[in-house]
Amino acid sequence: MSSPTRITHFVAGAPWSGTAERTSAVFNPATGVQTGELDLASAEVVNEVVATARTAWEGWGNLSLARRSQVLFKFRELLDRDKERIAALITAEHGKVLSDALGEVLRGMEVAEFACGIPHLLKGGHTENASTSVDVYSLRQSLGVVAVISPFNFPAMVPLWFVPVALATGNAVVVKPSEKDPSATLAIAELWTEAGLPDGVLNVVNGDKEAVDALLTHEDVKAISFVGSTPIARYVYETGTRHGKRVQALGGAKNHMLVLPDADLDLAADAAVNAGFGSAGERCMAISALVAVDSIADELVAKIAERVATLKTGDGTRSCDMGPIVTAQSRDRIVGFIDEGEAAGATLVCDGRRGEYDADGGPQGEQGFFVAPTLFDHVTSDMSIYTEEIFGPVLSVLRVEGYDEGLALINANPYGNGTAIFTNDGGAARRFQHEVEVGMVGVNVPVPVPVAYYSFGGWKNSLFGDTHAHGTEGVHFYTRGKVVTQRWLDPSHGGLNLGFPQND
Ligand code: NAD
Repeated sequence: MSSPTRITHFVAGAPWSGTAERTSAVFNPATGVQTGELDLASAEVVNEVVATARTAWEGWGNLSLARRSQVLFKFRELLDRDKERIAALITAEHGKVLSDALGEVLRGMEVAEFACGIPHLLKGGHTENASTSVDVYSLRQSLGVVAVISPFNFPAMVPLWFVPVALATGNAVVVKPSEKDPSATLAIAELWTEAGLPDGVLNVVNGDKEAVDALLTHEDVKAISFVGSTPIARYVYETGTRHGKRVQALGGAKNHMLVLPDADLDLAADAAVNAGFGSAGERCMAISALVAVDSIADELVAKIAERVATLKTGDGTRSCDMGPIVTAQSRDRIVGFIDEGEAAGATLVCDGRRGEYDADGGPQGEQGFFVAPTLFDHVTSDMSIYTEEIFGPVLSVLRVEGYDEGLALINANPYGNGTAIFTNDGGAARRFQHEVEVGMVGVNVPVPVPVAYYSFGGWKNSLFGDTHAHGTEGVHFYTRGKVVTQRWLDPSHGGLNLGFPQND
């Protein structure tokens, strides 16, 4: 067995050359083997990286939009060239199946494509003769150094939600990826350098709480984009704003799919399985609570169980439907929730605790961190499998009398990331999209992740701050507005007048 590869920071266009005081292990979750030893940044290292970024920003922020967008176009080309290589890095450290990993890179690439249009997105307003011979116009300018702190579950896509827009708007960036699967983020950082981004404009520091805290409190870090679990999102929001930064902190989720009696139950069952078990349920937009109207619940649960029985769980490189869980700790946590659900009296229709993996999953599958798809029926809103974000392949079915009870259940939940309704009744769907207190809504679409030119973000405990990711909200987040009021003086403008300026 080969020894773990050293994984380090990416600073000023090159791997960091220092020696880390602390490191952590990176695993291939399909085999359970440690493949990497990751350098964890101390506060001092973070300070050095921020200083590098601060210096690089002075040149980059003043570069013409034409030159900046050329780098973005080139980056997009290189990402397209290397998408399969990056997908393989994701699968090797996260575990999700290769096709899913590729999908994540492509969704991230959409944001780079959006950011290529930055000259248009940064156009300000201009009003001629707002007052006699006075013109008014607006500008948006970069902030300086901004930080992106990302979760393990989308090591390529989540940094790509932010980095292209932050760079396009003229900022320098420090990314702190998850310590569980940093390699895809690092490989993408190298592509920026290859695309012609000046050294130091984009840097990656690896680390844990120490590195995050150093970013949250550093006076030269002007904005924080965070994605992760709700307790950490709240902490990041409170700490960052207390230190004078603008912060968008996207948190956890409990996404509900409401199925009305007039829905096509085969399509709804397909959607529930895809959205519940894709990426082993480790998606912030995964459906984890299926809300079924009682009259069709038995039939729907039977159809879902039928489909679950056909799923292959195994090594994500070996043509399986679902890969392993990211770490042994996460697997044990998920199994603990299944135990609790059973003890609380929910009906365990499909039990994934066997950790079963298909023969195609490979000879080392037994050593990996596997939980197979798990389906619970007759779940109630007081059970921990409903109240907690499990973040694994566990789908809970809750039964309701009808639309109103289903809506009330969803709106009472503290999370509000994504939700979906399955129905053929346009009026019910229209009511739902208006009444539901959730930031991203699907009508017969189970995972309603917005395209890049809209913005991504939830409500309630799923997002702290008021700005969503990418789209025009992203451009707004990474820039400061300035309004110029201008006139060119002539003799008629003379004279003293200490009153408040009035328009005429
Ligand atoms: P996490 O909160 O454990 O970690 C996220 C980031 O915060 C990582 O970079 C991590 O190193 C850092 N971190 C962890 N503990 C910290 C601490 N005590 N202090 C400071 N920083 C800390 O989340 P995760 O397990 O990597 O990711 C899964 C979570 O992310 C789920 O809750 C999921 O719903 C959420 N998520 C949300 C969205 C969204 O758009 N709302 C998208 C993806 C993931």
